[in-house]
Amino acid sequence: MGEPSKSSNIYKYCTGRMMYINVAVCLSVLLLVIGLSVGLTVRPFKGRDALDSAPLIDGHNDLPYNLYGKLNNKLSDYPFESDLTHDDVWGKTACSTCYTDLPRLKAGKVGGQFWVAYVSCSSQYKDSVQLTLRQIDVIRRFVERYPANLQFITAAEDIEPTWRSGKIASMIGVEGGHSLDSSLAILRLYYDLGVRYVTLTHTCNTPWADASPMDDGYVYNLTEFGQTVVYEMNRIGMLVDLSHVSHNVMRDVLAITRAPVIFSHSSAFSVCGHYRNVPDDVLHLVKKNNGIVMVNFYSEFVNCNSSRNATMEDVIKHINHIRNLIGVDHVGIGGDYDGVGSMPVGLDDVSKYPNLFDRLYESREGEPTWTKEDLEKLAGRNFIRVFQAVEAVRDSLKSESPREDVITGNELYIAQKREGLNPGSCQSAIEWNDVNTTDIEQSVSLSTITNKARVYRSLEVEGC
Ligand SMILES: [Zn+2]
Repeated sequence: MGEPSKSSNIYKYCTGRMMYINVAVCLSVLLLVIGLSVGLTVRPFKGRDALDSAPLIDGHNDLPYNLYGKLNNKLSDYPFESDLTHDDVWGKTACSTCYTDLPRLKAGKVGGQFWVAYVSCSSQYKDSVQLTLRQIDVIRRFVERYPANLQFITAAEDIEPTWRSGKIASMIGVEGGHSLDSSLAILRLYYDLGVRYVTLTHTCNTPWADASPMDDGYVYNLTEFGQTVVYEMNRIGMLVDLSHVSHNVMRDVLAITRAPVIFSHSSAFSVCGHYRNVPDDVLHLVKKNNGIVMVNFYSEFVNCNSSRNATMEDVIKHINHIRNLIGVDHVGIGGDYDGVGSMPVGLDDVSKYPNLFDRLYESREGEPTWTKEDLEKLAGRNFIRVFQAVEAVRDSLKSESPREDVITGNELYIAQKREGLNPGSCQSAIEWNDVNTTDIEQSVSLSTITNKARVYRSLEVEGC
């Protein structure tokens, strides 16, 4: 073979170069196409997108109490699947505590909800258990009525699969220890019926735990029987909810509980000094306890400045305060919709949660930076972690026997006297057989009790 001709060299050079040019052109076109399609389909991340990758779990919605108050629990008359914003009965002008329906829950991207079995404090020492059972029943029937959209769940592991299937994981909370009637038997049976948290008090003291704002005067804080209630809740896997209890009871419970606690709907006391909110020293204890404070939106709890209306910015302050003080692992959402008569501008009903998450992600000057993972924790992952931890404590205590403690008649007597009631007039249980009223009257200065203790008197007795 002789030396290659110049013409064949040029040919190779040309074809080679052509090839490079072709590849380069192809690549450019490809990149352009990819770039265009990416530009068309991807928009910048918004805070609300975190609610697509983690369930939004709200700790407290009082819709069941509205169902009772308005319909005596006749669900067939409740148009849950319609947008009720302007409804004649359920709309915002007709009903000051109505914020919930299915279309708005969907718009709000709600993935898990505690529906609250609440009964008035005026039922304490009377028919509180009966009324609570009625509320548990209406929640269960309500959830069963809408199987395409709601699903009743009782275990932490069921929350995410339920939410991924497009349904709202629906749970039951009992709000107020008065619903237990000081009975561990009732507590256990509520658990069997699917209740997963009990708030230790509502606005009334129980014979074993003080409600807020009882922190001075004649106080019990958490009594020995109250400790037993907490231990038994730990044993069976019932979440201990400290919203509504006095600040001292918060501290007492956090000192003895064997499982993480929740505040199903409470905000930060140092941002707005309302007694329903959680003081900083307690927040530190919640961090140690691995618990969670699910922030309440109620206007009066988030904004202490009566000269202006509450806004979403107030709620942001509470969330950020808790995060700054004890970290992003201990904060959640507990809106309190349908339980209160006024919500902040911007959080007007259950459709507005996504706006809150968008706004948090903006992270304005002086605010912490919220990542997607942080927002997912706030939305629901923190709560799921706490719920799982409570279940793990329950499992670790399997060898413990159910507690058989019974509150004494004396305790019940004094507690009722303290509320200005006529002790024992509504009770027939045997513990009253042992009550020696003369002894009690002599051992306790009842004038002191009745004068000092009625900081929060919400009960009246007119016989039974
Ligand atoms: Zn409440």
